[in-house]
Amino acid sequence: MIVVMKEGATKEDISHVVEKLSEAGVDVHLSRGKFKTLLLVIGDVEQAGSLPLSVCPGVERVVRILKPFKLVSREAHQDDSVVDVGGVPIGGREFIVVGGPCSVESDEQVESAAQGVKKSGGRLLRGGAFKPRTSPYSFQGHGVEGLAMLEKAREATGLPIVTEVMDTRDIPDIAQSADMLQVGARNMQNFVLLKAVGETKMPVLIKRGFANTIEEWLMAAEYVMGAGSRNVVLCERGIRTFETYTRNTLDVSSIPIVKGLSHLPVIVDPSHAAGRADLVEPLALAAMAVGAHGVMIEVHPHPEEAWCDGSQSLTLDAFGSLMDKLRSVAPALGCEIAPKA
Ligand code: PEP
Ligand code: MN
Repeated sequence: MIVVMKEGATKEDISHVVEKLSEAGVDVHLSRGKFKTLLLVIGDVEQAGSLPLSVCPGVERVVRILKPFKLVSREAHQDDSVVDVGGVPIGGREFIVVGGPCSVESDEQVESAAQGVKKSGGRLLRGGAFKPRTSPYSFQGHGVEGLAMLEKAREATGLPIVTEVMDTRDIPDIAQSADMLQVGARNMQNFVLLKAVGETKMPVLIKRGFANTIEEWLMAAEYVMGAGSRNVVLCERGIRTFETYTRNTLDVSSIPIVKGLSHLPVIVDPSHAAGRADLVEPLALAAMAVGAHGVMIEVHPHPEEAWCDGSQSLTLDAFGSLMDKLRSVAPALGCEIAPKA
């Protein structure tokens, strides 16, 4: 349920309604727009729904939401949300490119990838220190040492860091090093983890699970926002289908659908969707065309030597030419791309 306050509603009008709602046993989140304040009512709205709130001073109307997600919904916040990640805004006119290796391997590897990403106009550095691997015998990531490598690369380039959290026990370490916490596809419905990352109040990137519906994905974001984070970005990374030419199938339709249902920014990861370096550029262009707010690209100084996901990783040169293509198409689609550094 949402209580829409009138344009001129006073502080007293708002606190009066909040008080009434709290007495009815529900939580109230305030969403302040340019002109109006919305009161988002969370919890069992049975009793709150029967209150005659529409006659309270300053109330414009009371709206019932039938969708299962509330905090993430367009009704809760009509304007697009812009999420600030270490000074980089995701969700505005600028199409944000996140680049970096699948996994952090060495100081030299991360720094060289970060320098290449920065030089071509990439705005954020990705890289896994804690890796979710299908096989327990595969490289699991350097852990805390990997975080230190990412920090050095940030120091050298100024690019804020996005890195994955798999286990709540690692949150204190990762939160200290990273600018944005990533919840991976395999953990999208790990509700304990979602609540714990939300409690940090840090920016959170939620990848869509490869077997999850759009509604389940938005409910994952609802968990994070409900726990306290106001800075959530969604990431479409392909879903599992019967097709075998690609690792996953990029669900391009999910981007405009999510933008209709939610105010949260949404980006695309064409690397994990395709699983093939040759498809990364066309899929990244498709992402921009359907209105994504950015892309996340796996980049490696020597993809043939990568410890993880080399076949889908771009060389620094290929990343540079992808950035040139995106930059030339951007004006036609009403967005902007950062210039080369
Ligand atoms: C990643 O981005 O490093 C990753 C493991 O992706 P996903 O969770 O989408 O598979
Ligand atoms: Mn990867």
